Amino acid sequence: MTSPEAPAGQHTVRRHNLRLVLLELRRSPGSRAELAQRTGLTKATVSSLVDSLVAQRILHEGDPENSGPGRPSRSLRFNPAGPVAVGVEINVDYTAVCAVDLNGTVRSHRHVVTDNRRLPADQVVARAADLVPQVQAELGQPVLGVGLAVPGAVGPEGVLLRAPNLPRLTGEQPGRALAAALGLPDVLVENEANLGALARLWSAPAGGQDFVYVSGEVGVGAGLVVGGELFRGVNGFAGELGHVVVERDGPRCSCGGRGCVEQYAGQEVVLRNARQPDLDSLQVALESGDRAAVAATDQAGSALGVGLSSLLNVFDVPVVVLGGMYARLFDAITPALTGELERRVLSSRLSGGQIRRSSLGIDAAVHGAAGLVIDRALKHPNRLTADLTASVENSDSSSPLRTRRIG
Ligand SMILES: [Zn+2]
Repeated sequence: MTSPEAPAGQHTVRRHNLRLVLLELRRSPGSRAELAQRTGLTKATVSSLVDSLVAQRILHEGDPENSGPGRPSRSLRFNPAGPVAVGVEINVDYTAVCAVDLNGTVRSHRHVVTDNRRLPADQVVARAADLVPQVQAELGQPVLGVGLAVPGAVGPEGVLLRAPNLPRLTGEQPGRALAAALGLPDVLVENEANLGALARLWSAPAGGQDFVYVSGEVGVGAGLVVGGELFRGVNGFAGELGHVVVERDGPRCSCGGRGCVEQYAGQEVVLRNARQPDLDSLQVALESGDRAAVAATDQAGSALGVGLSSLLNVFDVPVVVLGGMYARLFDAITPALTGELERRVLSSRLSGGQIRRSSLGIDAAVHGAAGLVIDRALKHPNRLTADLTASVENSDSSSPLRTRRIG
């Protein structure tokens, strides 16, 4: 009889080493020799793992390059034709789906304008589920899994605890419903502002800087990255920037309070104040110096600055990244926003804060939703390389890549 712990050694170590190599490759591409140096593994170990990953089409090894003395090296990166992760975003006024390869490159994308407030939860989920096979069919590559971004606080079991702008989804489990519609074992679910923050963190993992990501949609949210980790709060409610009070007796808000940031800086309020039907026309109006448009974005920047200054004074985070609508309106809102932060944030007198525009714009959350799936696969490589680990655990069987095609 063998002890239950006896066989753990070899495949556990191999899986651990595999995880090291995969996470290191997410930080940046590199040759076998560079990966050995960066992970502290032997060149032989790295080569054995890389051989398996290349054979499974998970990694792609480039042509030899002469980079100084010694043998030419070949750079390794994730295979763009290999497995992809699918991100889905259900927001107040649109539904988006994208497929992202393991390098983090968006390979296929759908963005459908739709008023999800009017629909019951099952129809909202059904619309999202219809888009997934379209994106998948365009690529024909194996899918690792699906992640979902939602505009509200997400609790245990993926329950949408609170979504003031999508009240018909509150209390529902949209991830579970989407998984059922797609025939998948699970769908990972997270708040859209948190995913915008994670998308930025994963796109520059070597940066390691703490920042707050601000998502401007119909609702306003913030994702806080402290010490290189997302701060979710005890119940997943951290970063509800849209409901920080700017004026105690201000206009009523969907959350039941008054004078929240969202009532000055949310997309619908800004468009109404600017007397513009959509963001495209608002941008045109701003370019021509339209007074209502300028006043509306000034007011949004100012309210956002007052709300953010409270958050920055509590958490002492040096960088603010503006995403969603605020990335598009960056030049229009930053003067008023910067003014408020300089006046109110105590640390700005020491170091000067930095305000940056998210390069992912309105796609940050859906990109982050796909990133959730990639993160899980790289940290638990048995999901990525079922046959690799299986071949170590049971040397006489080799099962196919445990990924699934949808649709
Ligand atoms: Zn509110």
